[in-house]
Amino acid sequence: MPQQITIRFYEELNDFLAQDQCETDFNVELKKARSVKDLIESIGIPHTEIDLIIVNGESVDFNYQVQPDDHISVYPVSNSLPEGMVIMPSLLQHCQPQPLYKPRFVLDVHLGRLAAYLRMLGFDTLYKNDCDDPALAEISAGEHRILLTCDRLLLMRKQVTHGYFVRNRQPQQQLLEILSRFHLYDNLKPFTRCMHCNGKTQPVEKQAIETQLLPKTKKYYNEFFQCDSCKKIYWKGSHYLKMQEMISSVNKGP
Ligand SMILES: [Zn+2]
Repeated sequence: MPQQITIRFYEELNDFLAQDQCETDFNVELKKARSVKDLIESIGIPHTEIDLIIVNGESVDFNYQVQPDDHISVYPVSNSLPEGMVIMPSLLQHCQPQPLYKPRFVLDVHLGRLAAYLRMLGFDTLYKNDCDDPALAEISAGEHRILLTCDRLLLMRKQVTHGYFVRNRQPQQQLLEILSRFHLYDNLKPFTRCMHCNGKTQPVEKQAIETQLLPKTKKYYNEFFQCDSCKKIYWKGSHYLKMQEMISSVNKGP
């Protein structure tokens, strides 16, 4: 009889599973010696989503070598310990590295709108529409940037330590998802980054840039910001106000 293990994934890790594997124990055939990280990724869940792995009641790290008949529970990154956890917190081995002191991001080519929104709120966000997967993983690891992507294979690359699989498909919803996942609501600094090039922006006198404004903008707005790098000019127009409304409604809660 082939050797098997039993595994169960909790909370949002179920987003990655087939229907019949959700919220339940299931068996996986153990065809070869492998680490628990390798096993979890073979089921389709990137290591960047995992924080706690409990094998037969004990907390283990990614390097644990899976044994036949192991009973494995896998938990996502979370603010609180999973309900019903009976292991002393001091004995838990968290798989995720410490959060970055100042969160910075690199985004894959499909997340252009999200990149612009994050920049609008002041987050250092690298985005180029011609970056391939190896380059993105390299930038994330080398520059300590959180890699945001909808491509789980990209997050499975070994060198990626800080990454996140973006669930939503709608850019504004993606922004809210990121703000809440990384607890960024207290760090918003709108109009300090250029949405176009990620350069830093500074307040600029209307007088100095007046000739570059369209007549309506000139008439209705008095506060302006300019990018140090590409010189693009920004003002708190309707786009910004809509976003501000959306964020404050979510931040305040129901
Ligand atoms: Zn710029």
